[in-house]
Amino acid sequence: MTFWEKVLKFARIATASIAALAAIIALISIRARSGPRSGTLSHIPLAINKRSNYENFEAECPHCKEWSVFNRASDLHTFEHIARRDVNCFHCHKPYRIMGDSINNLHEMLVHDCYELIERKHYMNCILILTQLTESGLLTARL
Ligand SMILES: [Zn+2]
Repeated sequence: MTFWEKVLKFARIATASIAALAAIIALISIRARSGPRSGTLSHIPLAINKRSNYENFEAECPHCKEWSVFNRASDLHTFEHIARRDVNCFHCHKPYRIMGDSINNLHEMLVHDCYELIERKHYMNCILILTQLTESGLLTARL
């Protein structure tokens, strides 16, 4: 191995090490921003089992294992995606954190809802949703 081959090999290793170090620093930074902070409700457990659709965010309470259905309009007061939110269980009233909402667009969420309707054999509702999407131009404009 010539001197320049050794230099090139060292440069590749150094570049890979710097990239790995940058990734580690980024991960630590993200964890520091999202991790526990003094004075916050950091002891609030996270709802692991969850599902979301256009109207609702549903989550299994980590305390009592009952599911709560949070309506986006009446309970969460937003139609924005839920990145992180502290809520109280509808059954045991203890607090827990919900996160990891779907990031799909409106028409994608509605189409996705149809899969569940088809599984439950609610074909009429599925047809109504698809018809409304087509009429509003959301479905045809996005395809
Ligand atoms: Zn509960």
